[in-house]
Amino acid sequence: MNPPNSRLPLRCWAEIDLAALERNLRLIRASLPAHMRYVAVVKADAYGHGLPQTAARLMHAGADLFAVATLAEAATVRELGPGWPVLLLSPLLPEEDRYLAEYDLTATVSSIEEVDRFEAAGRVAGRVISVHLKIDTGMGRLGVWHEQTASVYEHLARAPHLRLAGVFTHFAAPEEAAFTSEQRRRFLAALAACQGIPLDSIFVHADNSAGIETMSSATPFNAVRIGLLQFGILPHPNSLLSEVHTEPVFSFLTRVGLVKSLPAGYTISYGRTYTLGRPTRIAILCAGYGDGIPRAVSNRAQVLIRGTRCPVLGRVTMDQTIVDITDAGDVRCGDEAVIVGRQDQAEISIAEFSTWADTIPWETLCSITKRVPRVYRTVLGT
Ligand SMILES: *Cc1c(COP(=O)(O)O)cnc(C)c1O
Repeated sequence: MNPPNSRLPLRCWAEIDLAALERNLRLIRASLPAHMRYVAVVKADAYGHGLPQTAARLMHAGADLFAVATLAEAATVRELGPGWPVLLLSPLLPEEDRYLAEYDLTATVSSIEEVDRFEAAGRVAGRVISVHLKIDTGMGRLGVWHEQTASVYEHLARAPHLRLAGVFTHFAAPEEAAFTSEQRRRFLAALAACQGIPLDSIFVHADNSAGIETMSSATPFNAVRIGLLQFGILPHPNSLLSEVHTEPVFSFLTRVGLVKSLPAGYTISYGRTYTLGRPTRIAILCAGYGDGIPRAVSNRAQVLIRGTRCPVLGRVTMDQTIVDITDAGDVRCGDEAVIVGRQDQAEISIAEFSTWADTIPWETLCSITKRVPRVYRTVLGT
C-alpha cells in the first residue's frame, strides 16, 4: 500500500483472496436465473477490500455493471475499464454534474430538479448522459416517491441529452418478507404508470445480497446489485444463500509482539477492566483500534494463535491488544494471530467478530484503517 514501507515486515494486514472473489461471482451468477445481470457494488473501497484490485478482478469475472458511491470511486473504475457502465448510487453535488459526461458515468435520478440538472450538463458537454431512475418504495432515502414516478419519468423521457438506462428501488428490510413484497408491489405499480417505459432494454433492479433470497423470476427484474455476498459473507445468519457456498475473501491478521507471564490478581490495560483470575501467559498483539479492532470488542473478542482461540483481555488500545495465551502452547514473538479468518481447523468469521463489536459485517469491513496494507493473493481461480 505504502511504497516507502512496502518492504518492511507485516505487523497487521488484510489478506484478500481474489481467486475466491472470482469464484463467488460465478457461484452467485449460477444460482440466479440466466438472464439476470450482475451489478457489482464496490463502494467504500470495495467494502475495504481495495477498489482497483477488486474491480479489475470482477471485470475479469464478467460483472455487467459497477455501482459506487462517489465520483472518486467512479473515476477509479473508469480508469480500469473504458466503456464499462458505472452507476453512481449517491446523489451528486451541483458542481459534480459536469463529471458525468467527462468520465462517462451513469447517474441515479430521483427528482425533476435532477433531470433538469443532468440534462443541462449533457447539453453543455454535447453528450448524452445515462441515468437510472430510482423509485422510493419504502426506504425513505433516494428515489422519487413511488406514487409520483410517472411525472419524473415523463420529464426524463423528453430530455434529449439523457438516456434512461435503468430503473431501480432499494429494500429497507429484506429480512421482512411482507414489507419486501409490498415494496416490490409498489415498484411494479410505479413502472406500470410510466407509459412506454422500455423495460426490456434497460436494467430493472431491486435486489441486494439479502433481497435475492426472495426474488421470483416471474417479474421484470433483470439485474441484481451484489455487495456483501460477493465477498463471501452472508447478509444474516440464517440466510438461504448459505446454499450458494461462497467463500470469505477477506482475512485480518496481526502478529505477536511480546509474550510474558503475570500473576493472578493483576489488572490488564487502560481502566483496569480485567483482573487475572489465575497466573496467566499473555501476548501483546501488534494491532489495536488504530488498525480497525474496535474498542467495543475489549474483553469480548478472541483471536486465533497456533490454532487456539485466545480471549482479548481488558481494553483494546490504539496500537496493541492483549490476549490470554495460557492454553495456546508455545507462543513466540512473531507468531501470526488471526483476528478474522482461518487458522488450522479454527475460524473466526467476520459475522462473529462483528457481533463482539455490536455491529454488522458491512461496518466492520469499512472500519479497517488505511494503516493496514491489503495483501492480494492473485492465483487465478477456476
Ligand atoms: C450498498 C448497496 C447495495 C449492496 O448491498 P449488499 O447488502 O452489500 O449486497 C445495493 N444497493 C444499494 C443502493 C446500495 O447502497
